[in-house]
Order: sequence, then structure tokens, then C-alpha cells
Amino acid sequence: MIQTIEVRTTSKTELLDITHAVEEAIRKVGVEEGVCFLFVPHTTAAITVNEHADPSVAADLLSELEKIVPAQGRYRHLEGNAPAHVKASLIGPSETVLIRGKRLLLGTWQGVFFCEFDGPRRRQVHIQIVGT
Ligand code: ZN
Repeated sequence: MIQTIEVRTTSKTELLDITHAVEEAIRKVGVEEGVCFLFVPHTTAAITVNEHADPSVAADLLSELEKIVPAQGRYRHLEGNAPAHVKASLIGPSETVLIRGKRLLLGTWQGVFFCEFDGPRRRQVHIQIVGT
């Protein structure tokens, strides 16, 4: 069964830690060991796994992406959110994380982040959990 997490972002760009929401989805399914596939159905948002112990890591990621894809540039896309589309593709729309003991098998410092690049908006993350 595919589940969908609703995410509400509050800034133009932000990284939202959704680790707990994803683990809640795993608990609902009751899978002990398996795979959790996460997919973001948006063209100006993405998903990544990175350090969530120190919030400055997420801040650095956003500020460095801003240098690579500046807000002001010679973009062809006239909707005004061209940088958000580029950032979304750089980070990517999906992640796969293993499950063990009904939890994400993440490293000590890792968390799952929803990446907003054109907020604030209501967003979704689709989750498929496969296992036993
Ligand atoms: Zn656009």
C-alpha cells in the first residue's frame, strides 16, 4: 500500500526533517525488515538523506546550492522559479532506505529531509514499504 505524507513548508527554501513521519508510516505497515522507497511528486522540491543532528548542515546545503544555482540568473523558464527546478533535479525526487527492526536503517547522524525550493507550499511525499 502506497502511503502519502503531507508536508507543509513555511519558507521559500528549507530542509524539513521528515524522519519521524517516515518511521510512523513504517510502523503502520508493520514491516520488520525491508525497503522504504520515498518519492516526491513535485518539480521544485526534492528528498535527501543527510545529517540531522546539527541543523547547520542543512543550512550549509541550502546556502551552497544557492551559490551553484543563484536566484538571479539568465534562465529561460519564465515562471520565475527556474532555480528551484534546477535544485530539485540536482538533489533528486527519490530516496531508498533499508528497514530493520521496524525502523529506518540510518546511520547515527542521518535523517530524511524534504527539500523545499519554491515554498511555502503544501507538499507530498509518497512512500512504498516492501518487506516482511
Ligand atoms: Zn516552474
